[in-house]
Amino acid sequence: MNTFVYTSLSARVLFGAGSLSRISEEMAALGATRALVLCTPEQRPQAEKVVSLLGKRAVGVFDRAVMHVPIETARKAREVARQLGADCAVAIGGGTTVGLGKAIALDSGLPILAIPTTYAGSEMTPIYGITEAGIKKTGRDSRVLPRTVIYDAELSLELPAAISVTSGLNAIAHAAEGMYAEDGNPIMSLMAEEGIAALARALPAIRLQPGDLAARGDALYGAWLCGTVLGHVGMALHHKLCHTLGGSFNLPHAETHTAVLPHALAYNAAAAPRAMNRIARALGVESAPQGVYDLAKANGAAVALMHLGIRESDLDAACDIAMRNQYPNPRPVEKQALRQLLQDAYDGTRPRS
Ligand code: NAD
Repeated sequence: MNTFVYTSLSARVLFGAGSLSRISEEMAALGATRALVLCTPEQRPQAEKVVSLLGKRAVGVFDRAVMHVPIETARKAREVARQLGADCAVAIGGGTTVGLGKAIALDSGLPILAIPTTYAGSEMTPIYGITEAGIKKTGRDSRVLPRTVIYDAELSLELPAAISVTSGLNAIAHAAEGMYAEDGNPIMSLMAEEGIAALARALPAIRLQPGDLAARGDALYGAWLCGTVLGHVGMALHHKLCHTLGGSFNLPHAETHTAVLPHALAYNAAAAPRAMNRIARALGVESAPQGVYDLAKANGAAVALMHLGIRESDLDAACDIAMRNQYPNPRPVEKQALRQLLQDAYDGTRPRS
């Protein structure tokens, strides 16, 4: 019999194409009247759309969200929020923009209304990250969990197909590791399996036709489920490795997840057979590591770290950094095997079954 502890995190979720039109009433339901709208420079037009829907409820736009939340950006955004007397942060964008909202909330307790436009899943987690002097520190704090999340597939129609595929694989990584999490539970495993299945259906359709609204909706549904898993249970080897590669070697987030995941799953396969069976079932394949690899490759994603900016000569250092802190993982993390995992991810070889 399973033994588990399950603590649910609470967020209000509105799902559906066109649901952005309800943002004003959602903000009012939060008791907020002065929103600071956050975005990246590229997503300014979407932020302007939010401003036009909010009218006087929008007091400003901060359009300088940067990947991994540099502390200087966080400080500037916090200052702008204070100067404008904002009582709520509206984050429209991917994990980068939601991350900036979290940095503001961590400092001020402002509620976040998140409108995700990628599949990264940050909107469903109380996990924040801030980068100071080149080192990204992450933590959990209930203040940073968005209070309301609006999933509107129309807003992801413009997300380029290539980013959509790697972002979707980033989401699958949350669900896959949630399946074998030390603190996992049956509810999260159900969500994880459903989330992986939705993304495995959606990504090939989006690659074929980026404007396919039904596929976009399916992918966002998968992202919601996978993000929920990430928020509720601890991650293992795969996420720690990606954190090391991203933080210490400046590799791009979703692409790194895509290249590493098949090999992290292969590493853990024998130690987590039930999880592997469920991941494979969700993907509609026999082998979870191969299924993830094939999903990425067939949809045009880079499956080799060598194409993402790391040098082969960096792999020893990456291995040493990843070995420094031990953490729960189905299979003990051993140096030689980990170095081989990194080599396989670097070369982009298809995992053995
Ligand atoms: P991102 O937010 O950096 O977005 C990638 C690019 O796509 C950006 O230029 C963005 O402006 C653009 N973009 C996003 N949506 C678009 C759309 N619909 N149309 C056109 N362009 C669009 O990428 P991401 O992968 O979502 O986020 C990565 C960051 O999120 C990393 O820093 C990662 O650490 C963090 N993250 C945090 C958590 C958490 O729980 N704290 C979870 C996942 C990711």
